[in-house]
Amino acid sequence: MANTNDCIFCKIIAGKIPCAKIYENDSLIAFLDIAPLNPGHTLIVPKKHFERISETPESILFEIMKAVKKIAPAILRAVSADAFNLGLNDGKIAGQLVPHVHMHIMPRLESDGFKHWQGKKYADGEAEKVAGRIKSLLK
Ligand code: 5GP
Ligand code: ZN
Repeated sequence: MANTNDCIFCKIIAGKIPCAKIYENDSLIAFLDIAPLNPGHTLIVPKKHFERISETPESILFEIMKAVKKIAPAILRAVSADAFNLGLNDGKIAGQLVPHVHMHIMPRLESDGFKHWQGKKYADGEAEKVAGRIKSLLK
């Protein structure tokens, strides 16, 4: 667990910075993202400071997904959406701006213009090689 003094989410959790909180339990809080993809865009944030998934206990990751299941239907109804993306940016290069692990729930609207990522193609045999490498590292 890193130093939490400068962490904006730790400050929100401590009540030092205001937020539009929608849900809280013993292990996490959920509040609206200050710069939403669409209205209702929510962040689920564990109360304890962990920077990345690799440092976060499985029990907390499970709590985050339980909260997604509980909260997402209410978000969708509140903003008249019927689809959402989950996002977890793990690491700076992946776009993690706040180094305190968190899950985005992003309600989607047909009109929002947000596009699916553009997939690349594997060269012949490359997928098998990459899969083999990953599998060997899982053992
Ligand atoms: P990341 O890129 O780390 O996955 O996402 C961080 C998110 O936190 C961004 O979408 C950003 O808009 C949001 N955010 C940053 N600072 C604040 C804040 O002070 N309050 C709230 N509610 N959201 C914040
Ligand atoms: Zn923090």
